[in-house]
Amino acid sequence: MASNQDLQRLLDELGRLPGIGPKSAQRIAYHLLEADAEEARRLAQAILDVKEHVHFCSRCFNYATADECPICMDSMRDRTRICVVGEPRDVTAIERTGSYHGLYHVLGGVISPMDKIGPEQLHIRELLMRLGEEDIQEVIIATNPNIEGETTASYLARTIKPLGVTVSRLASGLPVGGDLEYADELTLGRAIEARRAL
Ligand SMILES: [Zn+2]
Repeated sequence: MASNQDLQRLLDELGRLPGIGPKSAQRIAYHLLEADAEEARRLAQAILDVKEHVHFCSRCFNYATADECPICMDSMRDRTRICVVGEPRDVTAIERTGSYHGLYHVLGGVISPMDKIGPEQLHIRELLMRLGEEDIQEVIIATNPNIEGETTASYLARTIKPLGVTVSRLASGLPVGGDLEYADELTLGRAIEARRAL
């Protein structure tokens, strides 16, 4: 049987997870205590596997289990368009809409002077290299519709437009200050289709 100390350790670890308060941590911990050993082992193994096998795509910085992510390796994708997002979870949100068939580039954050994050901390240099090497005609900037997202979008537009590449931004209609990942698929899909040139 687990000692109280073991149980407390599990509660502490669960409580560190985003969105898990003390009550949820307790519910999960007791569920695992009552579950059979095999179920608990599968969960533990899934966590270990994801940490061992998932890393960043060498081209677009989305999550990948090979050198490149499944989207970069998919020959059916439109390779003339890159959609620029802040985080890998934004790729998931846009993929869910089914409205976009091009490639992505994940910045790994957004410009935020308050948090001392400037362009050099993000994967912007790699994006500019891709624009030099790949046959990209349009860059669609899909950073979140908040201050940092807008700052990042205008920095990218200023940097990319002189290269002769069309730069566009998701249409308004997304809740200002909100996160792409929480936008419903229909709204986000429309915002991609009705994107405007910057
Ligand atoms: Zn990729």
